[in-house]
Amino acid sequence: GTEYHIALLGALGVGKSALTVKYITKRFIMEYDPFLEDTYTKHETMEKEDITLKIMDTFEKEESNPDRYLKWADAFIVVYSITGRQSFEGARVYLDSIVKFQKSSGKDIPITLVGNKVDLERYRQVSKSEGKTLATQYECLFYETSAAEDYELVNKIFEGTLRELCRI
Ligand code: GDP
Ligand code: MG
Repeated sequence: GTEYHIALLGALGVGKSALTVKYITKRFIMEYDPFLEDTYTKHETMEKEDITLKIMDTFEKEESNPDRYLKWADAFIVVYSITGRQSFEGARVYLDSIVKFQKSSGKDIPITLVGNKVDLERYRQVSKSEGKTLATQYECLFYETSAAEDYELVNKIFEGTLRELCRI
């Protein structure tokens, strides 16, 4: 089978760890060590092919070096929180650095943009159409989701990303 690497990027607290753990275990872990960076392995089947997925749940220190995950990953899931305007602006910065790397390396890198925490609708600061527009601009798949609620939708995000990977 093939092995693919997917890295999750996004501002601190947007739910990268919650989404990763939900996908791996189907559970929502309320408090997850924010300073933990870990890589998880999951086996999937795509069109009868066995695929090993390595998922890196990143944690950004200020002095961090983006090359570390840019070189490692075959695809990215860029996460913001619909309740945090700043995290949405942060997503743009991540998208820019991926696109820049993509251009310099000539590598085709699928990107999925995710607006998380839709269960907190009453605290929404970023509209769905803003998310869609950003995704269109960067040619990403786009989902809004909640790591706290919807396993099926969280699963779709990873599945969609994997399908893009299998296409290239
Ligand atoms: P990370 O820094 O991006 O890894 O963020 P975490 O996964 O550690 O999540 C940060 C905080 O947001 C934690 O308290 C989580 O319980 C919470 N959280 C993550 N995803 C969701 C979500 O979809 N809905 C709600 N209500 N809380 C979430
Ligand atoms: Mg985390």
